[in-house]
Amino acid sequence: MGQLSHYFYELIHQNRLVHGYVFTGDDYESKEHVSTELIKALGCLNKDEVGHPCGVCEHCQKAQNHQLADVVSIQPDGQSIRVNQIRELKEWLSTSPIESNFKLAIIESAETMNPSSANALLTFLEEPVEGVYLVLYTQDKSNLLPTIQSRVQSVHFPRANVSERVAYYIETGVSEAHARIFAKMSSETAQRLVSDYEEADVTNWFKSLNYFYSTLAHGNLHAVILVQTQLKNSLSTQQALDGMDYLLILNHSMLRILSNTEVENLTQAYFINEVIKTKQPSLAHILELNDLILETKQRLQANVAPQLATERLAILASQ
Ligand SMILES: [Zn+2]
Repeated sequence: MGQLSHYFYELIHQNRLVHGYVFTGDDYESKEHVSTELIKALGCLNKDEVGHPCGVCEHCQKAQNHQLADVVSIQPDGQSIRVNQIRELKEWLSTSPIESNFKLAIIESAETMNPSSANALLTFLEEPVEGVYLVLYTQDKSNLLPTIQSRVQSVHFPRANVSERVAYYIETGVSEAHARIFAKMSSETAQRLVSDYEEADVTNWFKSLNYFYSTLAHGNLHAVILVQTQLKNSLSTQQALDGMDYLLILNHSMLRILSNTEVENLTQAYFINEVIKTKQPSLAHILELNDLILETKQRLQANVAPQLATERLAILASQ
């Protein structure tokens, strides 16, 4: 991670930064970290003689807190990045910077651009403007249109190991207990949880999901009532998807404990043991629950209403 930041400091220092990059690989946190460092180095008011940003000037602080007016980040609107989003982006890129001498846009999940969005972007990449930079995130460069692939330089970010991720989350202000759980989630989910992290909110959210999970594991029809009363208030599609990720982690711990394999470092092991003490679920039920949760994720991704999808999970788990 550090080495890649230095690579970009050097490029900027030597005036060799190109206009389009694609950050490939699974390590979302490092992509975020390196783009933030790149943004710092582009506008730092107090760089050292080899081009390293100071990290404390007004620009560096704003870059760290994602508060720069001349930097934007685009995410898919639902399933895809729409052509309107790219048109608006191009319009934004064509205006002069407000507080810096550059503009930079990050396009996350760039593979979700449909061909018309990608083509709208292409005209920009073909005729880059001085001081304007694009950074695309995607897992695999081959997911992009070949014409885009050939106009961006790729930098690969292989998946960070769990302890690196835990350290990164703690550094951004997450409690250690939560950091350990986030590190087992997908990078995108974890990053969302980190970006508006409030320790008490996350604790409460995990608590209500724990309770929901215990009713699912026990095949208790009360799970349905929970969805209709407690859970429905915090059920956007995204929250439901993040919640399913967490339920999968709990279910994984349950599977490991029931089958007596590798019980070290399991998430919420104490809680899972309490669930078992109340009434031990059968291994078959827990395996089935795993499939049901995965199915629920697919339904949510296909835009089934979150309350419906979660109710279905609760009903099927109780049969
Ligand atoms: Zn600085």
